Amino acid sequence: MSVNLLKETGPREVFCGLTSIVWLHRRMPDAFFLVVGSRTCAHLIQSAAGVMIFAEPRFGTAILSERDLAGLADAQDELDRVARELLERRPEIRTLFLVGSCPSEVIKLDLERAAERLNDELKGRVQVVNYSGSGIETTFTQGEDGALAALIPLLPHTDQRGLLLVGTLADAVEDRLIHLFGRIGIDSVSSLPPRQSTELPAVGPGTTVLLTQPYLTTTARLLRDRGARVLTAPFPLGAEGSRSWMEAAAKDFQINPDQVASVLDPLVSRARNALTPHREILEGKRIFLLPESQLELPLARFLQRECGMELIEVGTPYLNREQMAEELALLPDGTSVMEGQHVEKQLDRVRASQPDLVVCGMGLANPLEAEGIATKWSIELVFSPIHGIDQAGELAELFSRPLKRRELIRQALNPPCNVPNNSDPVHA
Ligand code: SF4
Repeated sequence: MSVNLLKETGPREVFCGLTSIVWLHRRMPDAFFLVVGSRTCAHLIQSAAGVMIFAEPRFGTAILSERDLAGLADAQDELDRVARELLERRPEIRTLFLVGSCPSEVIKLDLERAAERLNDELKGRVQVVNYSGSGIETTFTQGEDGALAALIPLLPHTDQRGLLLVGTLADAVEDRLIHLFGRIGIDSVSSLPPRQSTELPAVGPGTTVLLTQPYLTTTARLLRDRGARVLTAPFPLGAEGSRSWMEAAAKDFQINPDQVASVLDPLVSRARNALTPHREILEGKRIFLLPESQLELPLARFLQRECGMELIEVGTPYLNREQMAEELALLPDGTSVMEGQHVEKQLDRVRASQPDLVVCGMGLANPLEAEGIATKWSIELVFSPIHGIDQAGELAELFSRPLKRRELIRQALNPPCNVPNNSDPVHA
């Protein structure tokens, strides 16, 4: 590996793990996420997700006021009362996630014990699990890691051979990937999280795990503890990464490479065609990826190798070198990969390097846009169906669109002098 691995600590500007509830509650409609937090947490989760709720919400916040802090015992009772009332009012809930946050009063609460108490009381009618979405410990995608890790002890055991895809995917993308695995010759494919929280996949020594997202480190470790084999492969972003990702599974299932190629070759050549118009815009452009989602390494690899972009710096909040080894190996020699964040120093480097495009959090995007630097929100990449060979064109479009828009605005503001406008006497 010849990338330049660097590390930096300091002030961070990222969303916290509560944000992941936004996509997890859509994935598992029979689950409820009860955030145990402050009014700040309630505001975050409502403003981030409220717009997407059309019926009964599937998340809420048990706000701990200062009155609760007078006695920890009161706070535990209050939490039990809120959870009981919720489950009485919403009998359709099958899994209740108690989600911790970072206010100090919440950290003092033992949510694991609260989940145990409620499980004893509910006797299997609802399964109650807990995890932390605290911004002190996690970035926004790691909330999913916490939620999935909390489910691992509940997964049934199996000795059967099977492939387990781990990480939330858009339903249509997941259906397509399962279809393609079937054509390759892998018929037993399940997913975590499942589409119903009670239909948990089985796991055991015959299970091969493919992570669909790079931020599931704890979940991967717990699956290994359950006997599963977790493959290391490039992540399924772009035609190249998605192909290598599928090939890793095929190799593990000892499928003839010719069979794999006969299914994937036509898809890859179609993806290359879909990439062409975007590559024309992106080629030679310089990109700076600030650390937020942990998708930065696979994105950088795709943007450099398949879209011809030049990487100025690739940030990542955390770097799991073992899981990311194949991604690191595909980056060009000397690429600066920065683990961690000192937001002010990173912004100084952004300004000094004047990139054509910056991938960053929403909080940093507006100020950078105001300074004339085009941006792409990293959170948009988590909500978009970008996985798989078929989606390579859509993924590239997410990056070409802001550059195209900027160019159109520039042209509108500075029309070429030989183009007549409405004040030209010819048109008067
Ligand atoms: S968990 Fe912490 S960072 Fe997240 S909204 Fe609540 S207070 Fe803010």
